[in-house]
Amino acid sequence: VSGSNDAKNLRVKLVLLGDSGVGKSCIVLRFVRGQFDPTSKVTIGASFLSQTIALQDSTTVKFEIWDTAGQERYAALAPLYYRGAAVAVVVYDITSSESFDKAQYWVKELQKHGSPNMVMTLVGNKADLLEKREVSVEDGMEYAEKNGMFFIETSAKTADNINQLFEEIAKRLPRPTP
Ligand code: GDP
Ligand code: MG
Repeated sequence: VSGSNDAKNLRVKLVLLGDSGVGKSCIVLRFVRGQFDPTSKVTIGASFLSQTIALQDSTTVKFEIWDTAGQERYAALAPLYYRGAAVAVVVYDITSSESFDKAQYWVKELQKHGSPNMVMTLVGNKADLLEKREVSVEDGMEYAEKNGMFFIETSAKTADNINQLFEEIAKRLPRPTP
C-alpha cells in the first residue's frame, strides 16, 4: 500500500470516479461527516477529505479521499487522482443505466492505467430510489465479479451501507509485512 506507515496504522489514497450526479460527494460527506445535504454543490475539479476508521483487530485505516468531478471536461484530469491510489471506488446511480455504462468506462480506464494492485470497488448508489431502478442488483454484481471488484449498493441519503463500504475496503487492503 502506498503511503502506509506500519502494520497497525495504514494510510491509503482512495479515489472516487463515476458520472456526474451519481452521488460521489454525498457518499464522502455521509462517511466523513455523517450528513446528507440534498443541495450539495457540484464538485469542481476534485476535492479532498480524510477519515480514519478503526477495525476490530485494532488496526486503523486513514482514508485520504479524492472526490473527482464526473464531467467530461475534467476527464483528462482523472489520472492525476487515480495515479498512485491504492483504492478506486467507481460509482453509478441504480436509477441510471447510462451511469452504469459510464462506470464500466472508468473500470476499463483503471485496468489500463491504474496501479496493478489497486483495490477496485463498484458501488450502486441511490439504493433508496427502488421504484426508479434501471440497473438490477444482479447486473452490478455480475459485472463486478467478472472484473474482480468488490460490489455494494449504498444510499448516501439513508446512510445504508456507507460505513460497510469503507469497512469492506479496509479489510481488503494488502497489509505491509511487519
Ligand atoms: P456527484 O456529482 O457524483 O458528486 O453527485 P452528488 O453527491 O453531488 O449528488 C448528486 C445528486 O444526487 C444530489 O442532488 C444529491 O442530493 C443526490 N443524491 C446523492 N446520493 C443520493 C442517494 O443515495 N439517494 C438519493 N435519493 N439521492 C442522492
Ligand atoms: Mg461531486
